[in-house]
Amino acid sequence: ESEKVAKNLELIVKARGYENEVNVIKTGCFGFCEKGPIVKVEPDNVFYVSVGPKDAKEIVDEHIIKGRIVERLLYREPIKNEIVSRQEEMPFYKKQLRVALRNCGLINPEDIYEYIAFGGYEALGKVLMSMTPEQVIEEVKKSGLRGRGGGGFPTGLKWDITRKQQSPEKFIICNADEGDPGAFMDRSILEGDPHSVIEAMAIGGYAIGADKGLIYIRAEYPLAIARLNIAIKQAKEHGLLGKNIFGTGFNFEIAIKFGAGAFVCGEETALINSCEGKRGEPNYKPPYPAEEGYWGHPTCVNNVETFANISQIIMRGAEWFSSMGTERSKGTKVFALAGKIKNVGLIEVPMGITLREIIYDIGGGIPGGHKFKAVQTGGPSGGVMTEEHLDIPIEYDSLLEIGSMMGSGGMIVMDERDNMVKIAKFYLEFSMDESCGRCTPCRIGTKRMYEILNKITSGKGTMSDIDALKQLAYMVKDGSLCGLGQTAPNPVISTLKHFWDEYMAFIKDED
Ligand code: SF4
Repeated sequence: ESEKVAKNLELIVKARGYENEVNVIKTGCFGFCEKGPIVKVEPDNVFYVSVGPKDAKEIVDEHIIKGRIVERLLYREPIKNEIVSRQEEMPFYKKQLRVALRNCGLINPEDIYEYIAFGGYEALGKVLMSMTPEQVIEEVKKSGLRGRGGGGFPTGLKWDITRKQQSPEKFIICNADEGDPGAFMDRSILEGDPHSVIEAMAIGGYAIGADKGLIYIRAEYPLAIARLNIAIKQAKEHGLLGKNIFGTGFNFEIAIKFGAGAFVCGEETALINSCEGKRGEPNYKPPYPAEEGYWGHPTCVNNVETFANISQIIMRGAEWFSSMGTERSKGTKVFALAGKIKNVGLIEVPMGITLREIIYDIGGGIPGGHKFKAVQTGGPSGGVMTEEHLDIPIEYDSLLEIGSMMGSGGMIVMDERDNMVKIAKFYLEFSMDESCGRCTPCRIGTKRMYEILNKITSGKGTMSDIDALKQLAYMVKDGSLCGLGQTAPNPVISTLKHFWDEYMAFIKDED
């Protein structure tokens, strides 16, 4: 639909003879999926929502040529029914703080000059010409940036560990294997601002002493792949990748590797195996990838969103970055809001915001007058947050403390019509299907747990089954080799804790 809108805008602009004065630019995602396709008219800062191909004529004839805003295409605030024409005044955007998503919806991701016009590649220049690798790492450490892929490991520390390894060859890898159901943060960044990731990988390469980078991306993301390829080619043509960047003697190349959509390949050792053309299964750790990674060389793996923050930290400083967020979780986080929520979309908020603000102020609440019941964060690895958690600040540690986890940023909202036992079964089935089968607790344990859940939801379960389910959940958690198995029981454990009554409603008396 957006393609058709853009095509019609181009055709009509040309037909009216304005092609030299008006540019129709295809940007990345604005995040407000619920109201897409979106057309923003600049420099007027007018934000049109739910635009169809047929609306293109009116936008050109009325707004562009006659200067009259097309009111019927403006956003209407649902409660007061007031028109809001500016993006920053809309409730969906008001509480957002866009750092990783700063250029998404703003620039043409296929044009390196637009990225450069908004400060792109300045950070790479600054790093190569005025900072030592140690200073770069120190700045990232001081910023407090933690891995946005789910683990939350401090990025600067990871870079430092890799830098300290003695090896003639090192690698930096971008993990773009986003696999959580309902998550599309990384895809959006790569589609909307691929240069931000490329620039950050070069900075990371310089910091750890690597001259080669790999982007591991699932093959189901064709637009992101196409835009990455364009961006890499443009960066090479402009001397921002390749040999002797900025004349400093630093060389850096990036290659793309494709994943086939296995969830476990988001785990760094499985990802590295897959990059090497081997079966995508995790290895025992240690050694960690920072010590022995891609083809045995020290390798640093960071996620897309983590990289998207780097150039801003370099240019605006660690203090600026660490001034956002909470004591334990600095900066912002991108979330994909989906499920029973009015404003489905992609948001970026400061760490420490409450779930209430996300669900009601940004997300617009639950559609159809239904009641909020729970939100699953962290996808199949996470747990549920309920009404009692609405005012807890969202940060890595607070979520862990209540049995959930940040994960990569998927947030699936549920209302009172959702049965939480069935939701837990859905996530467990996902993990069971995605288990690589390497270790017994995960391979067999998730299957047995799924069978018990099936028995329970078909009304044949007993209290003994609940006991067995609990016991198995902790065995799988404790005995599994990698994060997939270690976290697969989380949806069951957390729903048992918060929605015990729903399990009991299925249970029949023991014979
Ligand atoms: Fe494979 Fe599961 Fe074991 Fe991870 S925990 S290695 S996914 S079987």
